Amino acid sequence: MGTTAVTVIGLGEMGRALADALLTAGHSTTVWNRSAAKADDLVARGAVRAATVEEAVLASPLTLVCLLDYDVTTALLEPAAGALRGRTLVNLTNGTPTQAREAEAWAVQRGAAYLDGGIMAIPSTVATPQAFVLYSGQKAPFDAHQATLEALGAAKYLGADAGTAALYDLALLSAMHVMFDGFFHAVAMATSNEEGTATGFTELLVPWLTNMTQVMPAFAADVDSGGEPALTQGLDVVLAGVRNMARASRDAGVRADYFEQSVADLEKQVAEGATVYTGPDVVRRLRTSG
Ligand code: NDP
Repeated sequence: MGTTAVTVIGLGEMGRALADALLTAGHSTTVWNRSAAKADDLVARGAVRAATVEEAVLASPLTLVCLLDYDVTTALLEPAAGALRGRTLVNLTNGTPTQAREAEAWAVQRGAAYLDGGIMAIPSTVATPQAFVLYSGQKAPFDAHQATLEALGAAKYLGADAGTAALYDLALLSAMHVMFDGFFHAVAMATSNEEGTATGFTELLVPWLTNMTQVMPAFAADVDSGGEPALTQGLDVVLAGVRNMARASRDAGVRADYFEQSVADLEKQVAEGATVYTGPDVVRRLRTSG
């Protein structure tokens, strides 16, 4: 492991975990946070507390930023922009692909190398085998700093478009968000009579969903192939099932709006003459319905 000096700007829950991981990996680590006291534990472990953002950036060839949002990031970095020249900025703040591309242009104009990143971990799993971090943007700074970035979690480079890491990050989060919405909807249904507990139901739900994720690679292969899909279901069977989910939700006194929308979409497909449910069709309809 190399000993590149690293600066971390932003010591919220996540920024503290990142700085902690860098210290553990043996990197000289300089930190800055608006509320300076959040650096105390890190300083006790050997981090250097910078008095200003500019001082923090000047301390290292590599600066990681992990803040509330891109507006805060730009507002903090703009007064220190001169210090960024010739250094690498890695922005791990959650944002949109457009924001990432704008941030790259901003950094490049100021003579800095830029990578945008998405952290696929929570603070307690940073630097564990579960953690991975997505990066996109310039390849040269990724190659130069990959060994250092691996201290946070497996470093996955997605390509030259600075927006790709944010796109994948938000797509992964969207799948997680809808999964949790589905989980809570299912719990509300299953606990609507006297029989069920959320805990008992979840003991069934986790293996069921785990099994169902095994189908995703086959759907994905169909989306990519552009040929005849291998995985198909009769649209009438899918529609009948979703209608029942909507009815059973309503009967259980649970909101059914997602399923009512789904029934309407499926009925429209049937009315248009479609007979099968396939991955490519679902993705195509999602792309055109927005
Ligand atoms: P926190 O709320 O714990 O930290 C927010 C950080 O932003 C703090 O350092 C805070 O400073 C700073 N900040 C907010 N407003 C300002 C401001 N106006 N001026 C200066 N600094 C400001 O959030 P997290 O650390 O959890 O999240 C940070 C980023 O990491 C987000 O983009 C989040 O999406 C991402 N992330 C977080 C995960 C998590 O599980 N927590 C998981 C994956 C990504 P101060 O301490 O002074 O308030």
